[in-house]
Amino acid sequence: MWQHINVLTCQRAHVPSIGAYREISYTTMHDPRSEMARICRLAYERRLLDSAGGNLSVRADDCVYLSRRYAGARQQWELTGDDFLVCDLEGNRLGGHGDLSRETAAHLACYRAFPEAGCVFHAHPLNVMVFVSAGVPIPPSSEQTDKFGPIGFCQHAPAHSHELAHYVVEGLRPQADQIPQHAIAILVPRHGIFVVGKDLNAAYDGLERIDRAAYMALMARLLRVG
Ligand SMILES: [Zn+2]
Repeated sequence: MWQHINVLTCQRAHVPSIGAYREISYTTMHDPRSEMARICRLAYERRLLDSAGGNLSVRADDCVYLSRRYAGARQQWELTGDDFLVCDLEGNRLGGHGDLSRETAAHLACYRAFPEAGCVFHAHPLNVMVFVSAGVPIPPSSEQTDKFGPIGFCQHAPAHSHELAHYVVEGLRPQADQIPQHAIAILVPRHGIFVVGKDLNAAYDGLERIDRAAYMALMARLLRVG
């Protein structure tokens, strides 16, 4: 049964039945979907996202907007606002079409654990992946990245598992008090990176800066100064 809900009023009290699919009205200034689509296209152009996967989510009010499964493999991140799903914090679908991304559990776990989190970006950025593959933390490489400190690893768990969601949260937790100032991040062994920001701009900013830090650290080796 389809039900009409305004995003501005999608408090849990207005979502009575778990698992039901409902049509949401997006006539609200809080709807971040078009901006999320723009950021996904930009991130793919800049090799921060790849076709192998990744996912972007934004929390607005009590809703979480998420890129859906196969956004990379089948759409190469050429997304519009209609390509995003809406859930509550427990993962109950409130709107949109298609399959939930397989890292949805990790995104929702971050929002539940960190009240200041407004955006979660999971990606396999080109330069970051060199460090991820080698199991080496990413050092801060310039004044633009000093604030992040070294980007280390969480414990390993299979991709898409609830165990991984737990380890991502625990890896981020020591940095959580910094979210109002700047994005925080954690590497997932042999997989990728999770970046959490207070909003979409902060998370994208962190993702791009950290990938630049990775690039600078790699290039510094050619100068024999790294
Ligand atoms: Zn991934």
